Amino acid sequence: MFAERLERARALMAEQGVDVMLLSVGADLPYFCGYEAMPLERLTMLVVPAEAEATLVVPRLEVPRVTERPDVFELRTWADTADPVGMVADLVGLAPVAAIGDQTWALFLIELGRRLPGVEWRRASEVTAPIRSVKDSDEIERLRTAGAAVDRIAARLQSGEIELVGRTEAEVSAELGRQILAEGHHRVNFAIVAAGANAASPHHEPSDRVISAGEVVLCDYGGTLVGADGVGYCSDITRCVYTGPPPAEFRRLYDVLFEAQAAATAAAVVGVPACDVDRAGRSVIEAAGYGEYFVHRTGHGIGVEAHEEPYIGADNPAPLAVGNAFSIEPGIYVPGQWGARLEDIVVAGETGPDPMNTVDHDLAVLA
Ligand code: ZN
Ligand code: ZN
Ligand code: ZN
Repeated sequence: MFAERLERARALMAEQGVDVMLLSVGADLPYFCGYEAMPLERLTMLVVPAEAEATLVVPRLEVPRVTERPDVFELRTWADTADPVGMVADLVGLAPVAAIGDQTWALFLIELGRRLPGVEWRRASEVTAPIRSVKDSDEIERLRTAGAAVDRIAARLQSGEIELVGRTEAEVSAELGRQILAEGHHRVNFAIVAAGANAASPHHEPSDRVISAGEVVLCDYGGTLVGADGVGYCSDITRCVYTGPPPAEFRRLYDVLFEAQAAATAAAVVGVPACDVDRAGRSVIEAAGYGEYFVHRTGHGIGVEAHEEPYIGADNPAPLAVGNAFSIEPGIYVPGQWGARLEDIVVAGETGPDPMNTVDHDLAVLA
């Protein structure tokens, strides 16, 4: 699998005139070689020449964590007194065009730039994103498994099994985190819990505010579920609960949101430009008079990273391809009052939109 992914990368590199690709911290590295770099000051780098074997440069103390894959890379280690940037510069050699991972620390790019003054630098995502954004059937099943796991947590929120009233947002967030792990994820990526007026802030930081009866509680959470090969896939879901009967005004807001999310999902068909998917949901919200309160794009791609290509927004005219996986998450945020968001992960499948989240989409009303 990794060897085949690298072959696809080499083909794209050849097409784009990239001589060597350098991958360090971030999701490209595990996607292409099954190893995840520690985000630390010691340099880890996969050097992928367009026309030679790849080399994984790893700090010596990390070697026990490396699964050797001789068909994918040759392992080269460095001791703490060595010069890893020099090792990478030697491997790059006289290559005139190098692509480097978007999340590589600037420290290393600047040092490499000093040692390789003639190199033209490109973003590795120009090579990796077109490959990563098309999921194969195994990847889709991993996304579905992760989606089913967070769906089970959502069902417990909707049934009232997860206590809300009387607890702080932070306490509920911590509980969501524990459940994300208990449901098989290896890592919690985020667990937003926003009550009442806090729900008007799309990325609210869960606080010590106590949740009371008669308000909206927006929960947006997800994690990474790592497979046996060391590569993890992400979940991401948003559902809203009302702690008591909602006022008619909120009911109306949520009905519009529900309709917008369904319309955007239905529009997520292979060949449809991403911007048209955004428009399908946004026009429902605008027609209801809430347009100014939908302050973000409709969604983001998802896979080994929680946010990746393709982005579902007005600025992306690219048509959806079979195997694209992304969120459909419109929101309506009324500052100082309340807010709501409804989010599923959806795959553009051969036979239509294929949601990874199927738990109830209604506003759950707790007694
Ligand atoms: Zn978000
Ligand atoms: Zn989310
Ligand atoms: Zn999301």
